[in-house]
Amino acid sequence: MKISRISAYRVELPLIEGSYKWSGGKSVTVFDSTVVAVETDEGLVGYGEVCPLGPFYLPAYAEGVRAGVRELGPHLIGLDPRELSVVNRHMDAALKGHPYVKSGIDIACWDLLGKATGMPVCELMGGRFGDSVRLYRAISQIEPDAMAANVAEYRDQGYTRFQLKVGGDPDIDMERIHAARSVLRSSDRLVADANTGWTQHEAVRVVRSVRDLDVYIEQPCLSYEECLAVRRNTGHPFILDENIDGLEMFLRAKADLAMDAVNLKISKLGGLSKTKQIRDLCVATGIAMTLEDSWGGDITTAAIAHLAHSTPEELRFTSTDFNSYVSVSNAEGAPRREHGFMKASDTPGLGITPRFDVLGDAVVEVT
Ligand SMILES: [Mg+2]
Repeated sequence: MKISRISAYRVELPLIEGSYKWSGGKSVTVFDSTVVAVETDEGLVGYGEVCPLGPFYLPAYAEGVRAGVRELGPHLIGLDPRELSVVNRHMDAALKGHPYVKSGIDIACWDLLGKATGMPVCELMGGRFGDSVRLYRAISQIEPDAMAANVAEYRDQGYTRFQLKVGGDPDIDMERIHAARSVLRSSDRLVADANTGWTQHEAVRVVRSVRDLDVYIEQPCLSYEECLAVRRNTGHPFILDENIDGLEMFLRAKADLAMDAVNLKISKLGGLSKTKQIRDLCVATGIAMTLEDSWGGDITTAAIAHLAHSTPEELRFTSTDFNSYVSVSNAEGAPRREHGFMKASDTPGLGITPRFDVLGDAVVEVT
């Protein structure tokens, strides 16, 4: 089996809530997502999706995905897509860095491996743990009382994990955390995710002011060293996200005891293959994980479900059903949330079929 064509489709995903706001006044109203198709000479096609959280969250932007597929594609034609390590070595040799560009191709090759073997991706990634995957809801940054009301509303829909977008004015963030915690049950988990938005002294003030609350602190500051300093000033469970952009940073943070949990985003790390590598190390060393991506639609949500469902439950902190945040569906067969949980499909590969009426014509084609 050989790769004969790689295509990319551009699809807009508007947010049902109208916008998504996080630290530093950043916001998105319509996501620009790319669906990647990897075709083979035997007629099988695999699909992946990459959707940056705007151009200002991680070093990634939507048009960069398409430009990158155009750059990488010619190096991959003729390779066997089932040989995932070989494909990834070729991608890394042809293009230094740019993990998010490689993510869609890698996911599509996992989809192909599943279709070729008749197995769901989660079984290929180690097997299915438990009946379903617990989800969190991200709460867009608005006024404290309105955020608490949103937390309560999503809790009524079945969610039990909440990620509060803070990283704004620290005095208002303290109110946000107190307000959100006050509407939750003791068994619900609350994460205050600053998305790098606080300076070190602000972060130390905030964590001290919420000292008596049951809340996780995620990525308070921009640099790893600032986060480490905050970590050493708090007893709260601590999560790193933006700083953990690959295996080396993961190993360093693990050695420094810098985190209790880590946020692994598939495209941040370069695809399912590289995320699985860190996932397996987390399992071996007892680090809990949020398993997700930067954003996306149905295909991203399916990939997350397979990654998460193949992760032991005690270390699977949360995951995200991104397809429930947006009003456009780009594939059939993707997981649908039920009472705050989702499941990976039982069908071969990712278990999705793209909606080509939504995707339109390919904007990149490499043969
Ligand atoms: Mg985060």
